[in-house]
Amino acid sequence: MARFAAGDQVVCQVRNRCIVSMYDSEYDEQRVFEIISVYDEGYFVYVPLDVDLRDTIYIDKSNYAKMNINKRFCDSDVYYITDFKVLSVYKQSDGLCCNRCGDFFYMSAPNQPDGTMVCWLCRAYPYR
Ligand SMILES: [Zn+2]
Repeated sequence: MARFAAGDQVVCQVRNRCIVSMYDSEYDEQRVFEIISVYDEGYFVYVPLDVDLRDTIYIDKSNYAKMNINKRFCDSDVYYITDFKVLSVYKQSDGLCCNRCGDFFYMSAPNQPDGTMVCWLCRAYPYR
């Protein structure tokens, strides 16, 4: 399952006008991007006008729907990333990470006495 959801903000490393892997130790800058769509095994992030990246995808009426992107992002640029390009989470809302396995669950709420959340899988299979 996807670790992130639309609306989450993640930190990525940019080098040579490309978003590079989190394992890449050489980068020009670290920057926060907002995920606007979960697609296939990865995510589309919004590219602000002042950010100059190569290999962006221009969103217009012909392609927003099939990329699962909200119509309000028409006429903007997006960039496709996968999990290994996410260096860290800047802001993650509308959900919690499971206190046991660490997976993110969209729209989940605390269900433990200490205010943390343990996902149904970990509750069903405590020794997984
Ligand atoms: Zn879990």
